[in-house]
Amino acid sequence: MTITNEEATMNCICCKGTMEKGLAPFHTDRKGDHITLDRAPAWVCTQCGEVYFDEPAVEAIQEVLCTLDQGTEKMAKSA
Ligand SMILES: [Zn+2]
Repeated sequence: MTITNEEATMNCICCKGTMEKGLAPFHTDRKGDHITLDRAPAWVCTQCGEVYFDEPAVEAIQEVLCTLDQGTEKMAKSA
């Protein structure tokens, strides 16, 4: 068994505290609609509560928003 010294850890950009994988609310405005995801995957600082969304999380969120855009477009057309 090999031990990797590069653990998947993150340090907070604000306080340099340890960040842990968790869930955080994500807010965005899309074409006049305010979207909130209450449980987006994120890194959360254990010290100051700063939230950071890493690349896989952002990609997953974008995918949700893309699907949502298609839905809202369809909705607008049916109005
Ligand atoms: Zn912090």
